[in-house]
Amino acid sequence: MPASDELPVREELRGKSPYGAPQLDVPVRLNTNENPYPLPEPLVARIAERVTEAARTLNRYPDRDAVELRTELARYLSRTAGHQVDRTQVWAANGSNEVLQQLLQAFGGPGRTAIGFEPSYSMHALIARGTGTGWISGPRHDDFTIDVEAAVRVIAERRPDVVFVCSPNNPTGTAVDAETVLALYEAAQSAKPSMVVIDEAYGEFSHHPSLLPLIEGRPRLVLSRTMSKAFGAAGLRLGYLAADPAVVDAVQLVRLPYHLSAVTQATALAALEYTGTLLAYVEQLKSERDRLVTQLRAAGCEVTASDANFVQFGRFQDSHAAWRYLLDQGVLVRDNGVPGWLRVSAGTPAENDAFLDAVRKLNKTAF
Ligand code: PMP
Repeated sequence: MPASDELPVREELRGKSPYGAPQLDVPVRLNTNENPYPLPEPLVARIAERVTEAARTLNRYPDRDAVELRTELARYLSRTAGHQVDRTQVWAANGSNEVLQQLLQAFGGPGRTAIGFEPSYSMHALIARGTGTGWISGPRHDDFTIDVEAAVRVIAERRPDVVFVCSPNNPTGTAVDAETVLALYEAAQSAKPSMVVIDEAYGEFSHHPSLLPLIEGRPRLVLSRTMSKAFGAAGLRLGYLAADPAVVDAVQLVRLPYHLSAVTQATALAALEYTGTLLAYVEQLKSERDRLVTQLRAAGCEVTASDANFVQFGRFQDSHAAWRYLLDQGVLVRDNGVPGWLRVSAGTPAENDAFLDAVRKLNKTAF
């Protein structure tokens, strides 16, 4: 029994464990979809400069509206995601998890529900629980694409207040096409109308263009992004959304005052100055991801087509035993609890080689 159960915690939190991928000290860590490349040294120096400047005014609260940062994020999206947005359409928070939490605080909450199509990013359900929002698990086909007909039916029947669409989907890597998003949006509008949140945390790694242009003329469609993956800045904690300006107004009703520290804003602005260099790493990771898919198939694995910086592979009779075997070889991958499947993040070429060697050995053993 968790020690917290001795306290008067909310009923729905009793007996629950916190979210947590193991943070183990092993030679090859490919379990949390991090970018394996440290930030380039010139960027590290630029961060130090910007943070030094910010430190001079740390006696003051930061810019509560993060105007400069939102302007630069809007410029980045406009340049790279196929649609012009400005700062009034962009909001930023401490990681996209906080963005998602603010969205559920504003649009979910007690007496309301959210739906996701599972298996998907487990935090969607956990943030729903944390914000008192009911959770509905929607269907996928066996190949992990969204079963649109069934999804539309569930939305019509259950009338959720928030619909999560994760594209590319974690943990399967599956991209969602624009037609599917539009079908879900239409269903959500006739059911309620409700908010549809596209979680595009891995958008930059996709073979397909961003779904950002879909926000045009759809005031209840939100696109969520992060600097944790493509920007190689998971430690920074910076996520953002793009949507109709009214959505940005709504999340301001629930955000804590001065939620985004001056140090965070300064660091994120420095990283945005290095977009070109960082996106070159993304290209490298995309080709490593494609190599993982090819080599895993050659090694006899089943692989789900991936548009993210990770690959879902299997199938194992006992995926947890297979996970353990790889760990014993010094390679940490992720067991997301999808029966038969494991997930590996694309690392450096050397890390991926070590992983592939371990898999070849694994496939000679029976799991
Ligand atoms: N969405 C998805 C689909 C993710 O996989 C993750 C991180 N694993 C996040 C959001 C949250 O990322 P962050 O809070 O670091 O932006």
